[in-house]
Amino acid sequence: MYDYHVHSLYSDGEYFEPMLSAAAEAGVSAVGFADHCNLAGDARRRRERARYGRNFDLTYERRREALAALDERTDLTIFDAVEVDYEPGLESEIDDFLTTADFDYALGSVHYVDDQHVFSYDPFEGGEAARRDFVDDYYETIVSLVESELFEIAAHVDIVESHPALSGMTTCEHAEMVADAFEHSRTVPELNAGRFDDDDKPASFHPEGRVFEVLLERGVEFTLGSDAHEPGDFAERIPALRERVERFELEPVCPL
Ligand SMILES: [Zn+2]
Ligand SMILES: [Zn+2]
Repeated sequence: MYDYHVHSLYSDGEYFEPMLSAAAEAGVSAVGFADHCNLAGDARRRRERARYGRNFDLTYERRREALAALDERTDLTIFDAVEVDYEPGLESEIDDFLTTADFDYALGSVHYVDDQHVFSYDPFEGGEAARRDFVDDYYETIVSLVESELFEIAAHVDIVESHPALSGMTTCEHAEMVADAFEHSRTVPELNAGRFDDDDKPASFHPEGRVFEVLLERGVEFTLGSDAHEPGDFAERIPALRERVERFELEPVCPL
């Protein structure tokens, strides 16, 4: 069991050792630390990064040293990875950073569409038409992410389904356009369990529902990611991922 999507204190996760012990206890044999990284240069994102202490573009070398030291003390395989916020127009900044930093692999995520966060941290303003437009824009952004081929993995590709105001708005057309993009890209989607134990969220896995079905029909392969932010996240999410892999007879791929 390889978990390619785990956070550490280099973004919004916790210390390495407890994360690794909990992963091992859940039966994981390889952990990929993929801390958040946002490269947008506008004032709002810079303020936000400062506020949340998100500086992974500046600290990844320090984390790399820590991971190398840990590697000598554990039986687990450790990967040095990153989860980059993808935004259209940022391709050359992302490409330059990934080329320079040379991670084992990179995940690309759409966490914002324009200035709206896709998670439910902020209430969604606007009526149904506005929400449908937002979901259209979200999936168009996912398609650009996949077509950019900047990343080995596209993270939680139908994450809008976790937003109570947007859940159920993913259409067959969205699923088909996402699947078309994956069919022609080196980027693979992940099966993400980040919302598994979040009871008030409508979807447990990403993708789930339409997008998952169409990707399965097309034979698109997945990597696995718990998206664990704290040690306690592994205990339920890893067995849940394993159960899903068995039920759908998935053969998870290695992004390296
Ligand atoms: Zn994410
Ligand atoms: Zn994540």
